[in-house]
Amino acid sequence: METRWLAATVRGALAEALALVLPVACAGCGEPDVALCEVCANALHPVPQRQSLGTEDSAAGIPVWSGLRYEGVATHVLRALKEDGRTGLARHLAPSLAAAVAASAHPTAVLVPIPTSRAAFRRRGYRVIDLVAARAGLRVAPLLVPTRRTADQRGLDQEGRRENVAGSLRARDVAGRRIIVLDDVVTTGATLGEAIRALRHAGAEVVGAATMAATPLRRGSPDSFETQG
Ligand SMILES: [Zn+2]
Repeated sequence: METRWLAATVRGALAEALALVLPVACAGCGEPDVALCEVCANALHPVPQRQSLGTEDSAAGIPVWSGLRYEGVATHVLRALKEDGRTGLARHLAPSLAAAVAASAHPTAVLVPIPTSRAAFRRRGYRVIDLVAARAGLRVAPLLVPTRRTADQRGLDQEGRRENVAGSLRARDVAGRRIIVLDDVVTTGATLGEAIRALRHAGAEVVGAATMAATPLRRGSPDSFETQG
């Protein structure tokens, strides 16, 4: 375990060091010699949007705030941060997370991130949501822990995703606390639903969720994806 942790840390440091010497291109549009061009940086200006998790979930009605729509530049930049080790982009995504947390309007709530799987941490060497939260000046409390391995959610349909994550998280030391769950992106809401279930099961009061970006939750009515006025 110790060596694995070390390997992940070294990989993270290496990715950062390489980013300094290798030629870069804008993570949003590919323009050479710049990590993120001005146009793409502007496209990451947050516009908080609120959705509610679907009625079939145990987490029905919990508001989910997101700083950006998961499309275009936001998708490219998030992927570069998650899959290409471009940790320097975290500061450009920090405002979207900060805006989502602020929009949820629970300033005293404890911010609990969805835990990064061991496999993902070994691969990346860092935890995306923790990194962005740190850049946003948000203090997080790692009170959710995985209880088992889950398959990669990509490629699974909505039902498959829900089954894949059911019972996969456990919460600790949360009884009686008000909590906002943090995640990087919300797509079907399956992972958030599982996090909310685990937190409530352990006695927490979940008041919302906040993510950097979101795709509209498909089950909702067409106007369930609102933009904050
Ligand atoms: Zn660009």
